[in-house]
Amino acid sequence: MADQTLVRFVNERNILASLRVSGPTTRADLARLLSLTPASITRVVNDLVSRDLIVQMALPKAHQTAREPGRPGVGVGLNAGGAYFLGVEVGVGLLRFAVIDLAAGVAQTSQVEFDPASSPSAVVELIAAKVEQLQTAPTIHAKLRGVGVTVPGLVDLDGHVVNLPILGWRNIGFGVLLEDRLSLPVSVENNANAAALGAVYADPEMSAGSAIFLKLGTGCGGAAIINGQLLRGAFGTAGELGHIRVSDDGYPCSCGQLGCLESWVNLSALARAFGAGNTLGAAKLQRLPRTVAASFRNGEERGKHAVESIAKYLGLGISSLVNVFNPNTVVLSGIMRPVLEICLKNIQSDVARRVIFGSRIPEIRLSGLADSECAIGAATVAYQRFFEMSPVEN
Ligand SMILES: [Zn+2]
Repeated sequence: MADQTLVRFVNERNILASLRVSGPTTRADLARLLSLTPASITRVVNDLVSRDLIVQMALPKAHQTAREPGRPGVGVGLNAGGAYFLGVEVGVGLLRFAVIDLAAGVAQTSQVEFDPASSPSAVVELIAAKVEQLQTAPTIHAKLRGVGVTVPGLVDLDGHVVNLPILGWRNIGFGVLLEDRLSLPVSVENNANAAALGAVYADPEMSAGSAIFLKLGTGCGGAAIINGQLLRGAFGTAGELGHIRVSDDGYPCSCGQLGCLESWVNLSALARAFGAGNTLGAAKLQRLPRTVAASFRNGEERGKHAVESIAKYLGLGISSLVNVFNPNTVVLSGIMRPVLEICLKNIQSDVARRVIFGSRIPEIRLSGLADSECAIGAATVAYQRFFEMSPVEN
């Protein structure tokens, strides 16, 4: 990429990011914020307007300043319908889809069941069918700029699914398979990483911050956003926060070790602490957090014990993570939510008690994206990668 092209590309990306995070503003404010000359901002903004990515709009009175008396109330903002991104969450027998627009708003969500014994090629065909189905929404289909896929497993920087135990996939070049089928840019990402990015895009206040994510369910996925960037590590598999050690003994973790955080806070751990053993079927296990929450609220001892056990180990694990990463926010998500709603305050006070003296205590909260968080996150991965990896194209 020639130097001039690179400079223009960076300026475009920064303008789009600023408008997404801070909302519509004047050209003069953009120029000040990004340290660009008025001539540069005009050139890049006009180009983005001509490509339908941003639009001129009237601004609220708060933007009208004495310094710009000649152009009161006229500014630019993102054209939400200027580009769309499809996110796909590959789960156990379930594909969840989400389409987000250029303003990171969710345009639609849907889901389809599939046989968990399906081959990667069969899953590629299901995703291709979804893209074809988007033709019923012509504005989305015409402006679809990328597809993001998440899986609850290890993914390397090239989109290779290194290990996906729930579907028995190992070393599958899923990104290449899907890209060949769709002729669209495809990104593949670990589901917790994607959910973390999705939460950041959904909450502009977190965009430049540092946050830790734990996704609790069958496993305990983790991700770290440090100073606005997803922590990927040398080969892309960083952030396996569920496998930090919180005890010397315990139960076998999915990674084969003993004492991992995951083995104390996942659904199996909840079942053990609730006295339900390890014989619950998949459907009952999925309902278990609600069952335990109801038991707790009914004053039952075993419900109280199960909630306290999850809270205890989350407090231990999160304290270590806070000492390592110094986040502003810790976001908890996944189907453990009914239990977490009960014990969130206890975890917050436990972490405050445990972290090293002088550390700023982060806010610990539940994700606001609910069931579609990984699919929305996958779409934001496609969004981010599209604007980071290539000059903006219409
Ligand atoms: Zn482990």
